[in-house]
Amino acid sequence: MPRDNITLKCTVCGEENYITNKNKKEHPDRLETKKYCWKCKKHTVHKEKK
Ligand SMILES: [Zn+2]
Repeated sequence: MPRDNITLKCTVCGEENYITNKNKKEHPDRLETKKYCWKCKKHTVHKEKK
């Protein structure tokens, strides 16, 4: 199963906070998830960086 590393980027400050991976065939859509941003000091929406 090919799994590609993706970077999750805070949509508020633009900081790249998380690196994860996903199967692009199973999840072709851009990942969007709420995660804690240390820079914003709160949970923000993080989006997959392309
Ligand atoms: Zn942030």
